[in-house]
Amino acid sequence: MKLYSTNNKKLRVSFKEAVFNSLPSDKGLYMPTEIPSLSADFINNLEQFTLPDIAFEVAHHLIGDSIPANDLRLLVDDAINFEAPVVSLDDRTAVLELFHGPSLAFKDFGARFMSRVMGYFSKTEENSKLLDVLVATSGDTGGAVALGFLGVEGTRVTILYPKGKVSPIQEQQLTRNGQNIRAIEVDGSFDDCQALVKEAFNDAELNQRFRLTSANSINIARLIPQTFYYFNAYAQMKRKGITDIVFSVPSGNFGNIGAGLLAYKMGLPVRQFLAATNVNDTVPRFLSDGYYEPRPSIATLSNAMDVGNPSNWVRIMDLFEDDRALLKETVTAYAYSDEETRSAIDELYSSYQYLACPHTAIAYLAGQAYKKEQGGNYTTIFLSTAHPCKFPDVFSEEKQKAIFIPEQVKELESKPSQKEELGADYEAFKQWLQEEL
Ligand SMILES: *Cc1c(COP(=O)(O)O)cnc(C)c1O
Repeated sequence: MKLYSTNNKKLRVSFKEAVFNSLPSDKGLYMPTEIPSLSADFINNLEQFTLPDIAFEVAHHLIGDSIPANDLRLLVDDAINFEAPVVSLDDRTAVLELFHGPSLAFKDFGARFMSRVMGYFSKTEENSKLLDVLVATSGDTGGAVALGFLGVEGTRVTILYPKGKVSPIQEQQLTRNGQNIRAIEVDGSFDDCQALVKEAFNDAELNQRFRLTSANSINIARLIPQTFYYFNAYAQMKRKGITDIVFSVPSGNFGNIGAGLLAYKMGLPVRQFLAATNVNDTVPRFLSDGYYEPRPSIATLSNAMDVGNPSNWVRIMDLFEDDRALLKETVTAYAYSDEETRSAIDELYSSYQYLACPHTAIAYLAGQAYKKEQGGNYTTIFLSTAHPCKFPDVFSEEKQKAIFIPEQVKELESKPSQKEELGADYEAFKQWLQEEL
């Protein structure tokens, strides 16, 4: 596999380089030079394969010989060890549940795969040095990264999070792991946490001593595994005789839907993709009036989608070679307010006894809107990106009581909390990194 930068089409780097750099120095994003088509034989027989089978086949086609097939199979089996079931709500509506991993959100796919790819590459190097991952988080990403790297040999994770700004379940996911995961509660904001991490990456002394890397959300090793569940959802529907599918994707940074579109370009038959956003509607506005105008983000109930300038959008433009007409034929976008989100949560609960997180509810709304506009006999699958128990404040007391608490939460509750408390002070952070070995 070779990759170029969206800011420099002539650049060529290996998969390994792209994984460790996360971002090219020109601040573009890495994209594969070739999007391989999967064989018709594989696509036509998808229903015969399990999720790990599909994950291996898709990853192998994309990554090529960057990781030998036997090693890749072991890596995939270890990373993708939880289900992604499609649950039918009625004849024409289903939900793809992506929250059965350790952090109860779809980011587990990306984080678990990336952690194992990084662990694999650093292990196969001569003089391999412990890989030190530094992350600042405002909540969801940190939990997925912490749990994604937990126990991965040759790696260590340090997570910085702002004091009092993450939910109780999120904090547990950061602070109760032990092993190779360390959590620092910073007396400051998320921006302070990010500034500390950024300064550490630019610190020559620290870089001399440690092998530092970010677990950035735009890493190509996080995008690849997000294609797997689109193929696997199609396989599940095909077993029921359904092959005409619309996917509705709750979108913030547009990595999730970007992976869906990558799957589509590799040959997955999909009628239409729906990009569903909250009032941070840069992409819906662009698709309607042709002007790409990022705006500062606005806080909403679906806070993991509060993104005013979606970083993966350039990848999607590249996938469509800037052909806006073709892009608009494939992707339809909708945006919703918090009020609409709340009523969608109510509607899902009263019509189907289904409790959805606010991000998921927005994707449901987009599916309904498209159906109203287009009619037709297809099945809409909306993606559920997180378990509702992660957002208890959003729900009425009645619904809170109805939320099923998964095993992962109970397991963490029984473990002791371990965290370092620091001020938003770079020297203190640096000293801690050097002393805590
Ligand atoms: C990250 C996240 C999203 C947005 O996904 P993108 O890939 O950034 O579009 C949606 N829902 C939840 C719960 C998330 O954590």
